[in-house]
Parts: sequence; C-alpha cells; structure tokens
Amino acid sequence: MAEVIDGKRIAAEIRQEVKQQVDELKTKGGVTPGLAVVLVGDHPASAVYVRMKAKACEEVGIYSRVIRMPQETSQSELENVVDELNGDEAIHGMLVQLPLPPQIEEKPIIWRIAPEKDVDGFHPMNVGRVMIGDPDAFRPATPAGVIELLMRSGHNPEGKRVTIVGRSNIVGRPLAVLLSQKMKGGNATVTLAHSRTPDLPAVLREADILVAAIGVPEFVKADSVKPGAVVIDVGTNRVDDPSTEKGYRLVGDVAYDEVSKIAGAITPVPGGVGPMTIAMLLSNCIAATRVISSIP
Ligand code: NDP
Repeated sequence: MAEVIDGKRIAAEIRQEVKQQVDELKTKGGVTPGLAVVLVGDHPASAVYVRMKAKACEEVGIYSRVIRMPQETSQSELENVVDELNGDEAIHGMLVQLPLPPQIEEKPIIWRIAPEKDVDGFHPMNVGRVMIGDPDAFRPATPAGVIELLMRSGHNPEGKRVTIVGRSNIVGRPLAVLLSQKMKGGNATVTLAHSRTPDLPAVLREADILVAAIGVPEFVKADSVKPGAVVIDVGTNRVDDPSTEKGYRLVGDVAYDEVSKIAGAITPVPGGVGPMTIAMLLSNCIAATRVISSIP
C-alpha cells in the first residue's frame, strides 16, 4: 500500500511557522498582519472556503476581515470595496473569492487589486513575476501548496518526470511553471496534459509524480499510474451521498482505493492538498505584510 502524504499534518506545521512569524511581526515590528476576504453572493462551497480562511487567520493571530456582499452586487460596488481595501492600512493581503455572480466581470476586479496585496497571486503582475522566476512573487496558493507538500514529505521533484493533468490558470498551468523552474522545488521535467491530450493513460503512466487537477471525480484509475509513482490529488469534488449528515462527500480526481494499491505515495481527499492551500495563503499574507511594512 502507498504511503499516505498527510497534508493536514504538514499544513499544521506551516501554520505553526506562520504563527511564530506573526508573533514576531507584532512584538518586534509593531504590526498585525491583516487579511480581507470578499465574498459576493451565496455560493455554498465559497462560503465554506471563506469561513475556513477566516478561522485559519484567527488561529495564527492574523487580523481577518470578511466582507459579505449580496448576490446582486454590481461591478462598481465591488470595485469600490476593492479600492477601499487597497487603501486600508490594516489590510496587507486581500482576495475576492471566486466564482463571482454572472453580472460581475472577473478580470477588471482581479486587475484592480493592488499587486502588493494580491495574496492569491492572480493579478497579471504576480502571474508574470512567477513566470520569470522572481523568488519574491506571490505564488498562487494551491500550486505552492503542492510543491511544499512534495518537499516536506521527502519527494523532491528535482530530476523527476512530473505529469500534471489540468491546465487551469489557478492550478495546472502555474504549477507547471513552478515545477519546471531552475530553483528549489523545481527542476522537474514537466508534461502538462489536458482534455485534448491523446492517449492520456499512456502519458500519465510515464510520470514519477502525477498531479491530478481536473475536477472529475475519481478520473485517474490505477491503469494510468506507474507502480511506485507519487500521486497528488488536487481535485475536490462534491458527490451526493444521502448516508452522510451533509448529504454529500468530498472525492478527489483520483480513484483512491485502487490507485493507493500501486502508487508509492498518495494524498488523500480531504486532508491532502486542501489544507495546504490555506496554509500557503497565510504564508503569502506574511510576505505581503513584510513588503508593505518594509520589515525584512
Ligand atoms: P478547471 O475546470 O478550471 O480546469 C480543469 C482542467 O482539467 C482543464 O484544463 C481541463 O482541460 C482538464 N480536464 C477536464 N476534463 C478532462 C478530461 N476528461 N481529460 C483530461 N483533462 C481534463 O479546474 P480547476 O483547475 O479550477 O480545478 C481542478 C480541480 O481542483 C477541481 O476539482 C477543484 O475543485 C480542485 N481545486 C482544489 C483546490 C484545493 O485547494 N484543493 C484549489 C483549486 C481547485 P481543458 O483545458 O482541455 O478543458
């Protein structure tokens, strides 16, 4: 059976490190890091993510502000909130929870966030900085979390063949960029696969490290995995399950039961990449606070 990579434990380790940095920023720098999260509408999964982010902030001593706006919020109302947060000295990092309601155009909102407060790393300035390998850029939280998970569980991607399935702008593509860079946590030989990749199982079987970020429950089967490969499952899919209290359960993009029999190591869902994403968001918030407050 595969080694189970414990994202919960590793994320707790990172949150502890963040907490120490928060304490230091407060006592030596006289500044309390602040994160604002804007939630527009009543998307149920988004509401859960926002609550988790606020709770994680509070646990490490980061000041957290959640701005809840109604579903019918207009473009200019949301832009005004972003402008206010850009100018708010108590706020060092901010994010607008996606997806947004259909009447709001996402791009002008993301572009409006001050790049030095863009802890999600979605502003084109930060995307570009990541692309050129700037070590001080905000790395988007999920790809950064995957790399931390690999490094801290003893699966350095350097020199390995990594295949990522899924080329979204928030997960697959930035992860491919980071893993292929000439830097710590990089130096892998990367293949980025997607829905137009012919003979996907054969491509996946070449991977020493396989990352699934597709959004299709249990898509990756055992016959797509090289024996001994490290399998990272980014997928977080809700599937109906009336036997549970909530009426659904979370399932990854990997068929865990069969793949864990042949993989060398695997992340569970939940408890794998998910907690890492939040931990890396907190870590970006500390970096933002240091830059804005000129504390090295
Ligand atoms: P997107 O829907 O934006 O992208 C999905 C990607 O998967 C696309 O590139 C698409 O290919 C590819 N894809 C879809 N179907 C297939 C298929 N049958 N064969 C091959 N490739 C396919 O998803 P996200 O990147 O936003 O999210 C992916 C998953 O990760 C979701 O389950 C999401 O919930 C989860 N997630 C988890 C996070 C966490 O913190 N754990 C954070 C963010 C996301 P194409 O481009 O060709 O259409």
